[in-house]
Amino acid sequence: MPDRTAGLSAAAHRAQQFLETLDARPVAARVDAGGVRDELGGPLPERGEDPDAVIEALATGADPGLVASAGPRHFGFVIGGALPAALAADWLVSAWDQCAAFHSLSPAAAAIEEITSAWTLELFGLPAHAGVGFVTGGQGANTTCLAAARHKVLAAAGWNVEDDGLIGAPPVHILCGEQAHATIYTALRQLGLGANTAIRVAADDQGRMRPDALRDALAATTGPTIVCAQAGNVATGAFDAFEPIADACAERGAWLHVDGAFGLWAAAAPSLRHLTKGVERADSWAVDAHKWLNAPYDGAMAVVADADAHVAAMSLAGPYLVVDPGQRDNTNFVPESSRRARAVPIYAALRSLGRTGLAELIERNCAQARRMAQRLQTIPGVRILNDVVLNQVLVQLPDGDDANRAAVDAIQRDGTCWLGGTTWNGRYVLRVSVANWATTDDDIDRSADAITSAVQAISSR
Ligand SMILES: *Cc1c(COP(=O)(O)O)cnc(C)c1O
Repeated sequence: MPDRTAGLSAAAHRAQQFLETLDARPVAARVDAGGVRDELGGPLPERGEDPDAVIEALATGADPGLVASAGPRHFGFVIGGALPAALAADWLVSAWDQCAAFHSLSPAAAAIEEITSAWTLELFGLPAHAGVGFVTGGQGANTTCLAAARHKVLAAAGWNVEDDGLIGAPPVHILCGEQAHATIYTALRQLGLGANTAIRVAADDQGRMRPDALRDALAATTGPTIVCAQAGNVATGAFDAFEPIADACAERGAWLHVDGAFGLWAAAAPSLRHLTKGVERADSWAVDAHKWLNAPYDGAMAVVADADAHVAAMSLAGPYLVVDPGQRDNTNFVPESSRRARAVPIYAALRSLGRTGLAELIERNCAQARRMAQRLQTIPGVRILNDVVLNQVLVQLPDGDDANRAAVDAIQRDGTCWLGGTTWNGRYVLRVSVANWATTDDDIDRSADAITSAVQAISSR
């Protein structure tokens, strides 16, 4: 019998070592990709090595190039770690090696997607009949949702885009908040709708799309129309005002898509749910699991209220495929055919947290963002630029963009924590995002101390 488990103990051992030292290691990588290439590169080996040796070499060679982004003091982008149950479940996904495309290939994967879909819709207060596709990330979710939107608005205009393509189709108007995430534009490019054809609707000082500006823009267009709103601005954490936006879309018959990559999780926390008021009136929603739910990469949900439009845009309808009536073929909700059982770690994350644990995680990270803002505000000359309504903090240091850039470099080099910069109103500023299940208040305080020292060192130069 072949040895099927060779390498697993070595991998478990090295993973355990990594996780047990994750909180203590410097957050930034110690080498760039060149350092890892030197260790792991060279010619393709002529003869194979045994699994233990491969795992040992990989773990040792990759280590200096790993970022402790799963750790509690990585505040860059919007990242999140991996909950223990979700990480362990992810190992099972690989051990099972299910092709999760069709029910016939994995009833287990089909059932777990159904259960996880139902839990997700209930948590967010979205329509129970909506379609849910388990995609790779917010990008995949935005693309999938906008493909369903493209299907529906063109079908209403008498055009079958799946069969006949876009050449000769009625024009589709796209209206996006000025602060729409870059992945919305990538989706528009990939879908043949074009990034530059999108009308950018003015936003307010927190990055929220202005409903009055949306109304004006809608009044100036006729025909198939898609509006892209946002739950959780990637800089400020702000939420668009979904009630008036949904009203305007309903009056005009426009499809309303909401990019809620991380912000939609606020709907699962009682003290924050008001931020998402009216979001359930949209037609589609994109939400990540690998950010704030703390499932390991990669996983996200593309949710479409009109499940028929979802399937029409995504289904793989090859004549040779055995259709299993009444059963879920996961492939019908995502761009991929064969793929891993991506819902399994999401299921495990939700089950290990439970409804209250999830709410606590979201609320705790938001409280920690406020704590960070309060700490940083006490540094002379520092300004917090956003209303800290969620988990995002925008910090502007005195002395201009170069000083802000130098501070980001110094903070990353120091290694206590990691945060990045972003451009806000034309200025380079620091962005803090708190989205990790393991972050403690002490992590916030230690990081605030490190940031304070870096800022003081720069301003005294
Ligand atoms: C992160 C993010 C995305 C993209 O998600 P990925 O998981 O990186 O593909 C889209 N929209 C918003 C608002 C985000 O924060």
